[in-house]
Order: sequence, then C-alpha cells, then structure tokens
Amino acid sequence: MTTNDTRHLLAEAAQRAADYLEALPDRHVGPLPGAVEKLVSALDMPLPDQGSGDADVLGFIDGYGSPSTVASAGGRYFGFVTGGTLPAALAANYLASAWDQNSFGWTSSPAVAAFEVAALRWVKEALGLPMAAEGALVTGATMAHFTCLTAARNRVLRQAGWDVDADGLFGAPAITVIVGEEAHASLLKVLSMLGLGRSRVVRLPCNDQGRILPRDLPQIKGPTIVCLQAGNVNSGGFDPAELLIEWAHAGGAWVHADGAFGIWALASPALAGLAKGYTAADSWALDGHKWLNVPYDSGIALVADASALSDAMSISGAYLMSGGRREAMNLTPESSRRARAVDIWAALKSLGRQGLAELVERNCRQARDLADGLRAAGVEVLNDVVLNQVVVSFGSEARTKEVIEAVQAGGECWCGATVWKGRAAMRVSVSSWATTDEDIARSVAAIVKAVRETPEQ
Ligand SMILES: *Cc1c(COP(=O)(O)O)cnc(C)c1O
Repeated sequence: MTTNDTRHLLAEAAQRAADYLEALPDRHVGPLPGAVEKLVSALDMPLPDQGSGDADVLGFIDGYGSPSTVASAGGRYFGFVTGGTLPAALAANYLASAWDQNSFGWTSSPAVAAFEVAALRWVKEALGLPMAAEGALVTGATMAHFTCLTAARNRVLRQAGWDVDADGLFGAPAITVIVGEEAHASLLKVLSMLGLGRSRVVRLPCNDQGRILPRDLPQIKGPTIVCLQAGNVNSGGFDPAELLIEWAHAGGAWVHADGAFGIWALASPALAGLAKGYTAADSWALDGHKWLNVPYDSGIALVADASALSDAMSISGAYLMSGGRREAMNLTPESSRRARAVDIWAALKSLGRQGLAELVERNCRQARDLADGLRAAGVEVLNDVVLNQVVVSFGSEARTKEVIEAVQAGGECWCGATVWKGRAAMRVSVSSWATTDEDIARSVAAIVKAVRETPEQ
C-alpha cells in the first residue's frame, strides 16, 4: 500500500464519520429497523484466507455497522447519562489514534505524558479540587473507583499497621466500609473485586431524593472507608458532603466520592453549591465520557494524597522515574493504554472554563424544561430536578414499561427504564453537548405522543 492510499483511506474514514454525524438529527435514535439482523448475518462468516482491500473493510463497517448503532452521539439520546463527543475531542482522538502511542510513561510517549500532566491539572482547576491531588486516566468511573479504593484500602490498613501490598488481605484487620443505600452498583462491584465484599457494607439510609440522611450516624471505629455520591444516577441528588466528611474525618475514615457525572457541577459557579464540601474528600471517581463529552472510554481517578495513589499503583516500587518525572504506569492499574489525556485536554481547551460551565448549566436547564413540558402534559415527575436527571412515571408498572417501549420504538428520542424508590420509572439524562432546545421540544412531544397512544390500564 502506498502512502497515497493511506491518505485516501483516512480521508474516507473522516468523510464517512462526518456523514454519519450529519445524518443523526433525522435518523431513528435506536438502530435502524432490521439493521442489527443484517449485521449479525453479514458477520457470520469464517475468518477469510485472503485479506480484503482496506477500503472494502471500511465500507463493510460503515455499511453494516453504522445503521446498527444507537445514536448516542446525537442530541436526543438520554440513556445512561452518556454524553456525546465534542468535535475537538473527536478530532484529537483521530489524531492520537494515528500516533498509536503507548501511554505508560515518558519514555514510551513523552507527548502523551506531557498532555496527561496538563489534562489532570485542568480537571483539578475546573472543579476546584486540591492541586496536590494525583490522578489516573482509566476506562471509566468503575475503574476510577477501583483505583481510588485500592489506595484507600491500602492506606487505612497501613494506618492499622498492616501492609496489604506485601501481605494481602488474609489475616488483615477488618475494614468497615460505609455507603449510602443508594450507592451506584459499580461501587459495590468494585468492593467485591477488592476483597471488601458487596454485602458486608454498612448502609446509611437516604431520603426521598436518594441523599444520605446525615443523622444517627454510626460511630467510626478502626480502619474505615466512607463512600459518598455526588449525583445519584436516577435523581441527580447529592449526599450532603460537608456534614458527612466532617463526621468521617473526625473518626479517621477515608472519604471516597462517586462523582461520575455529578461532580462536574463544581465547574459551574451557579451549580457548585450542590456539590459543596466535596472538595474535602480523599478521593474522587469521575467520568470523562459522560458530561465532559469525550469519546469512550474515559474515566478519571483523583486521590488527594499522591503518595497513597503511588503506593497502591506502583509497578516497580518507585514512584518517580526518568529524572523525577510523573510516570503514569506507577499511578494507574494499567500499564499499556491509549492516549486518553489528549481527548480530555482537547475538550477542556475547546470549551474553556466558561464553555464547560455553560455546557453543564445548559443541560440542567434543558432537564428542567423537559420536566416542565412533561408535567404540563400530566406526566408525573418523581424527582426534584436539581441537576440533569429527570425520573418520570406513567402510572402502573405495566403502563410505564409500555410507554418506554413506545418511546424507544418511535425513534424520536431514547430514554431507558429504571426503578426509583420501588416504582417502575423512565429516566431521562441530559448530558450531551449536542442537545439543542429543539431536541428537548421534539423529545417532549414524542414522549407525550407515546403517553397518549398507550391506553391506561
Ligand atoms: C456511570 C456511573 C458509574 C460507572 O461509570 P462507568 O464509566 O460506566 O464505569 C458510577 N457511578 C455513577 C454515579 C455513574 O453515573
């Protein structure tokens, strides 16, 4: 293959990507009818003996794959708190893929190592988190929990005179893990992966918005980790951090904050009050691929005490190598990995502080507009719409399920099912840069139409 062929191929990939994105406003938000069946049957072939031309490979992926996608990059996808991808972040991701850097350290990729330092610094600046905090760029909030809670586990055991790094968990002093009863499932999964157990946690009761009730708090004794949530995945509600962190720190506990999407409220002066107090946590898990609108996968782990992170993640026992520089490999669970920092840096550079605040504020305003539109049509909104999350019911469980199915089948917008305070519900998460006010109006109309066309039982 000549250089000219590569240039053509990459240009064609960019053309096809642009065509895909430009078609999103007019297409069904779910996979196009029949597309997935066609893709699955086209893929049902043995590994060919002979290779195909590169243009054919790309044509196959676009021809069969693109119609089978969920249009989550578009403005009317409201599932799972996913964001879209900002143009600058997408373009940065293309270029960084061409670089094909192994991002484990300065030697393997000085470029990515430098972007990583800068990207982490900007994230801390944007959120007002302690500048001394160290970080790791991982796949998502789940792995960010894993990273932070490994540091937490090792540190609280070290304080109890136990070296878990060398001696493992067998025979170690017991750790008390305290969570809210509304903790995200990913946090419990991580506790199980870390040998801390999903079920042996102490669960604090929450109010009707899923926020921990800061009263009758248990006395903290011995090695303890307290996990708070900045942004409940259904209601968007925040655990009251100020009071809870004061209580936890008075008892010598480590405080971990699940801020997957909600912690980005700190980027907006108008919304930062919701997340008041979270800057005093010991570690934070957040997503880039949600509200920052960078491509998958992208999660960020931050730990206030840099040495707690490096002690837990060091591959060689030495934190700083190559002339005292930060080595990502000694701060993250992974060694080889992609250049996530470039996407994050590009998103923040293209938005600036103001653009980031505006994005978060606009999505919150759009969530309120959507809730108002649904309420005006007689739909019951179950949560206080404080952030970007709206939880609604259409009556009985069966009818709610039917309306959600009708909304998804209609293809004008996509919202998923959830259970909120024991009730079947539909959840709408507004977290994409691509969502316009017209998208909100079209979505309200589509949901109301589905409600009208679904008989009451
Ligand atoms: C999405 C989410 C997670 C898990 O994040 P991943 O990026 O999917 O690993 C954890 N906590 C909360 C509150 C979330 O919204």
